[in-house]
Amino acid sequence: MAINPTEPYDDENIFAKILRGEIPNKTVYEDDHVLAFHDINPQAPHHILVIPKGKYVSWDDFSAKASEVEIAGFVRGVGHVAREAGMVEPGYRLLANIGHDGHQEVPHLHVHIFAGKPLGPMLM
Ligand code: C5P
Repeated sequence: MAINPTEPYDDENIFAKILRGEIPNKTVYEDDHVLAFHDINPQAPHHILVIPKGKYVSWDDFSAKASEVEIAGFVRGVGHVAREAGMVEPGYRLLANIGHDGHQEVPHLHVHIFAGKPLGPMLM
C-alpha cells in the first residue's frame, strides 16, 4: 500500500524499527548518518537500501528539514556503498519512490541501489 507523504513521521514504520534494532536486517554499511542493508525482496542481483538515520519521510521532507551535514552524509553514504560494493565500473541504478504516485511503501526516506546485471531501460 502506498503512503501519504503529508502524514507526520510514523515512529512505528518498519525502517524506524530496523534503526532501533527491533527488527533484524542484513547490514552492508553504517555510519553516523546512514544505514545500508540488503533489501528483503531483491529485484536485482544486488539490491541495497540506504536510509538516513533521521526521521524523514520523503526526499522533499529531507531536503527541507535536514541539516547540511545530514544531507551530505546521506549522499556520501550512497556513493560509499556503491563504491565498496564494486558497482562503479559495471554501473548501477538509484531509485527513490516518493509518496502515493511514486508507490512508496515504507514512510522513511530510502534510496534503492540496484546492480549486478544490465538493468535495461528505465520503465515507467
Ligand atoms: O520504495 P518502497 O517503499 O516501495 O520500497 C520498500 C522496500 O523495502 C521494498 O523493496 C521492500 O522489499 C523493502 N523492505 C525490506 N525489509 C523490510 C521491509 C521492506 O527490505 N523489513
